[in-house]
Amino acid sequence: MRLVESLGHTVHPTYPALTPLTTSVARWTNLSGVSLDAQLTAPPETPRYSPPQGLLFTHRGFSGPAALNISHVFSRPRAGPRPAILARWGALERGDWERAFNVGGRTQVATVMRRELPERLALALLEEAGVPADRSLAQLRRDERASLLTALTAMPLPVTGDEGYHKAEVTGGGVALSEIDPVTMESRRTPGLFLCGEVLDAFGPIGGFNFHWAWATGRAAGLGARRRLTS
Ligand SMILES: Cc1cc2nc3c(=O)[nH]c(=O)nc-3n(C[C@H](O)[C@H](O)[C@H](O)COP(=O)(O)OP(=O)(O)OC[C@H]3O[C@@H](n4cnc5c(N)ncnc54)[C@H](O)[C@@H]3O)c2cc1C
Repeated sequence: MRLVESLGHTVHPTYPALTPLTTSVARWTNLSGVSLDAQLTAPPETPRYSPPQGLLFTHRGFSGPAALNISHVFSRPRAGPRPAILARWGALERGDWERAFNVGGRTQVATVMRRELPERLALALLEEAGVPADRSLAQLRRDERASLLTALTAMPLPVTGDEGYHKAEVTGGGVALSEIDPVTMESRRTPGLFLCGEVLDAFGPIGGFNFHWAWATGRAAGLGARRRLTS
């Protein structure tokens, strides 16, 4: 990075991305080993909708594709406050849970939740929402129902750190894309210099997109350099 900076390029601050997130809240680290699909969003920084992906609770926090793919929201250096990362657990939307709780009767709320979520997570979410574990659907108060719906579908994830470059799959930040010709990958600041891959300020979600970026820009840069040498 220092080398490209010395050649006149703008280097946006770098940071670990696609890295697990950590928490100091024991309620969540106690769930270590639990896994399920979860939807993590951080509006307005990420789209309001992203498909649920695998999430794994670890003894340090949150891992799996869902956590890795949103980790840059936490790890990217910024001047202002970070947006909250909101979790929706499992497959059900808010309206589905509302209908499930509206049934009433002596069935315990925990029983309804266990049909959709791992038991340990269901109990942790009841605790998070301040709802007694033995509460029945008929006894569920309006305020308890509201906080439980929030815990189930838009729970601010209590992230306190990230696992850094030690576990990161990619580096965020890097050389400003506006300073590179996107066809030849030649520097607009230093003609004859071709840049590709992770040194550039771009990365994608897990799933092969970063290999693809490295290979595609590497090929374009190679062809661009050959064209320059032979033209
Ligand atoms: C654990 C892990 C798992 C990953 N899994 C995936 C995945 O499943 N799918 C996916 O798409 N991406 C994945 N990635 C990301 C992907 O590997 C990178 O985005 C990609 O390899 C970047 O390619 P690159 O050529 O830009 O950089 P690199 O692959 O880092 O290559 C840079 C090379 O430059 C060399 N180098 C550095 N400094 C110098 C120097 N001064 N002189 C000479 N040589 C130097 C380095 O030794 C290195 O060989 C993963 C990354 C990690 C760390």
